[in-house]
Amino acid sequence: MVDPGVESSRPVGVGNPSVGLDLDALEAILPRYVGPGPRYTSYPTVPAWAPGFGREDHARALEGLADREAISLYAHVPFCRSLCHFCACNRVITRDPALPERYLAGIERELSLVASIVGRGPRARQIHWGGGTPTHLSPAQIERLFGLQADRFEPTPDAEISIEVDPRVTTPEQLDALVRCGFNRISMGVQDTNEKTQAAIHRIQPFEQTRALTEGARARGIERVNFDLIYGLPHQTVETFARTLDEVLSARPDRIALYGYAHVTWVAKQQRGFERGDLPDPRRRLEIFLSAIRRLIGAGYRAIGMDHFALPDDELSRALDEGTLRRNFMGYTTAEGLDVLAVGPSAITELERAYVQVEKDLDPWQEALEAGRLPTLKGHWLSDDDRARRYVIGRIMCEMGLSVADVEARFGGDFRRDYADALLRLEPLEADGLVEVSATGDIRVLPLGQILLRHVAMAFDAYLDPQLESGERTFSQTV
Ligand code: SF4
Repeated sequence: MVDPGVESSRPVGVGNPSVGLDLDALEAILPRYVGPGPRYTSYPTVPAWAPGFGREDHARALEGLADREAISLYAHVPFCRSLCHFCACNRVITRDPALPERYLAGIERELSLVASIVGRGPRARQIHWGGGTPTHLSPAQIERLFGLQADRFEPTPDAEISIEVDPRVTTPEQLDALVRCGFNRISMGVQDTNEKTQAAIHRIQPFEQTRALTEGARARGIERVNFDLIYGLPHQTVETFARTLDEVLSARPDRIALYGYAHVTWVAKQQRGFERGDLPDPRRRLEIFLSAIRRLIGAGYRAIGMDHFALPDDELSRALDEGTLRRNFMGYTTAEGLDVLAVGPSAITELERAYVQVEKDLDPWQEALEAGRLPTLKGHWLSDDDRARRYVIGRIMCEMGLSVADVEARFGGDFRRDYADALLRLEPLEADGLVEVSATGDIRVLPLGQILLRHVAMAFDAYLDPQLESGERTFSQTV
């Protein structure tokens, strides 16, 4: 059986990973794949960035943006009213009204510094606000933040302007402010609607709140709605998550991101409160995931990359068909060829030749800006090899495969020679039925490989071995 939502002309293997998947076969090979691994929202991954990247590098990297016609803008708004116990994001839990004002003053300084280097040439074809909770800001603060960005980098008429919101705190007045700014996409954290799970994760959110916000956004002309869900949370079962999906599908979001819960207690200490017995074991977790995939595909969604699902008329679906789907720190995106200029504490700027992250905590971020300095924390200049591997890993994560002719046309070289080590690493994965590698080196990821996608990408990661051998806890478990 072939996923009816997949174009037969695709050169590679994007599809429905639940089709043709034998859970017993998966379970038999699983012990070989249990372990940590990157999610590849960047390559090289942040822990592999070279030391010594400083403020001057940061400024030099930004200079490369000056001649761009269009860029993607990101703002990180770190505030939340209460802590969700599964969360490993960079956030500040506060109800202090002074903090958002200080933050906005910092953003104004940061944008001013950046614009003094980049100039006013590039226009914003994409704007995205994440967090934290961007709707922690009042309606007036929302308009101020948007104005600060738009004054420096004017949005194009067709700009995609999106925001992550928390239905528990977002008001009609904030929606009105978002519409006045031009936001046309909205993404909501839903996670799970089961009351017992919600109590365990410290996030009580009746689905009616989510539905009301969805309807409120659509009634105001915000065209696209995304829901974030998480599988693998405490007390989840196939049955409880099926009920979550019933509710979610009744609102027909355009996109659904279905993330696996990442148990990373060294980053998110509050996760220690989850007794291991409350979390579904790896087999149950996979069953929940697979039954959710079947349900979403059956409801007309297409599988996009590792953890996204979209209706066929959504831009992510179109980008998949057109070969323009990309993966960056925001997840899957249509921002092909766009550099991402990010502001706000912990934000990561992603350029053709460099990554830069600014200070993660509010105080050092603020202090650097008040002193008139870029709040550089770390960064990495991409070598030619980094750029080629970023593309290869990106194709695997986005299109479930890659064409050797395409890679050689873009980056030159001889694929089989340059990636001989990676092809060798893929041999056991091929024997386990995760991938097919043709005589020329073209790679197609099979349904088992789509479930273990990070492992396929890991074969091409030139930095990974010493990271894993160091024994440092850096990455979440891949299964
Ligand atoms: S999940 Fe979202 S709302 Fe909850 S603490 Fe994390 S960033 Fe804040």
